Amino acid sequence: MSLVERDLKAIWHPYTQMQTALPPVPIVRGEGTCLFDENGKKYIDAVSSWWVNIHGHAHPHIAKKVAEQLTKLEHVIFAGFTHEGAVELAERLLKLLPASQEKVFYSDNGSTAIEVAIKMCLQYWHNKGKGKTKILAFNNAYHGDTFGAMAVSGRSAFTAAFDSLLFEVEFIDLPNNGNIESIKSQISDLKSELACFIFEPLVQGAGGMIMYEAKYLNELMAHCRKEGVLMIDDEVFTGFGRTGKSFACDHVMVQPDIMCFSKGLTGGTMALGVTTCSKEIYDAFLSDDKLKTLFHGHSFTANPVACAAALASMDLFTEPSTKENIERIVKSHSEFLLKIQHHPKIKTIRQTGTILAMEWETGNNTSYFNSLRDTLYQYFLDAGIILRPLGNTIYILPPYCITDEELSYIYNKIEQALQEI
Ligand SMILES: *Cc1c(COP(=O)(O)O)cnc(C)c1O
Repeated sequence: MSLVERDLKAIWHPYTQMQTALPPVPIVRGEGTCLFDENGKKYIDAVSSWWVNIHGHAHPHIAKKVAEQLTKLEHVIFAGFTHEGAVELAERLLKLLPASQEKVFYSDNGSTAIEVAIKMCLQYWHNKGKGKTKILAFNNAYHGDTFGAMAVSGRSAFTAAFDSLLFEVEFIDLPNNGNIESIKSQISDLKSELACFIFEPLVQGAGGMIMYEAKYLNELMAHCRKEGVLMIDDEVFTGFGRTGKSFACDHVMVQPDIMCFSKGLTGGTMALGVTTCSKEIYDAFLSDDKLKTLFHGHSFTANPVACAAALASMDLFTEPSTKENIERIVKSHSEFLLKIQHHPKIKTIRQTGTILAMEWETGNNTSYFNSLRDTLYQYFLDAGIILRPLGNTIYILPPYCITDEELSYIYNKIEQALQEI
């Protein structure tokens, strides 16, 4: 039996309608920006394997550090014990973050990092004896697939089967010049109930690479601070260079109370989640009363191998060449945007840092289920490019090591697709 046949017998894939999906592509190895299937066909990973890979596949430095760690310490319980990797990663991460961030809480992925952040905020008010339990979030947000993370995400086809069980959230639109004042007064009206505001900074990823301006986010954050609403900055997607700066919050002045990380954290090597918080939050859990403890943890919290991968990824991230690569991609995307923005088949095109997204004209409404999506997906796959459209929106967010030649190849294929499809 082929790998694909065995897969189809045994596996249920994520975000996949198994009855109608095309068979999965069997990947056998990765190198740099590329993945290779079992027939030797090469694919440029233009979406960084669901946005996680920032330094290229099977990176030798990360591989070496992970291998070394595996022969030293593979795992240890993290309640009552600690280890070098977890401490060093926390120290080095905090140095890169806004000064407000002082403590690191580990978990396993982006969704759990969000769950922890939500619990920190709700219990912060609980511990202080204040009944603030409402959460403010953006329409169309995506914060993960576990129940708390789903609840603070926009209601959509993804959540429909569970909507009646999701806790109630106050949703607002993305801020712009026209609505910022009314959003601010809405927040002021609700301030006695609002525990926190959770947001994807600058870019709503899974919602369709929807972008909004830093100055309005800044204004909203300043208002939340003024009204005593805690802020959870979900940098699971935007963290580690995606938006052109190290973190999306580096584009704004106001510092969040809590930040969440996962996708780029280990360079796309291992599952790891981090929630960081301010001293103010942390201190609200310090007490002689055991009931004020944050009762949360996972079996694999702060796994040493994942921490080693994250540290190795951070070595690479802080090299000057990575910053240069990010700047090179940002410039290259901007030039391509200018070149094709007026193409009649392009409805909208937008860029934030290394993320370039374009919505194709379909005549119909934009929807995740648009059939154009499948056509585009297959077209680029045939051309050896992994682009996984969100509805009729295609986006490029490559590993930072992508070469100019690879970028040109992707842009050329997009132009070709615009002609042919
Ligand atoms: C992907 C994502 C999550 C969830 O992360 P998982 O590791 O997939 O659970 C949360 N927030 C944002 C902004 C994301 O893009």
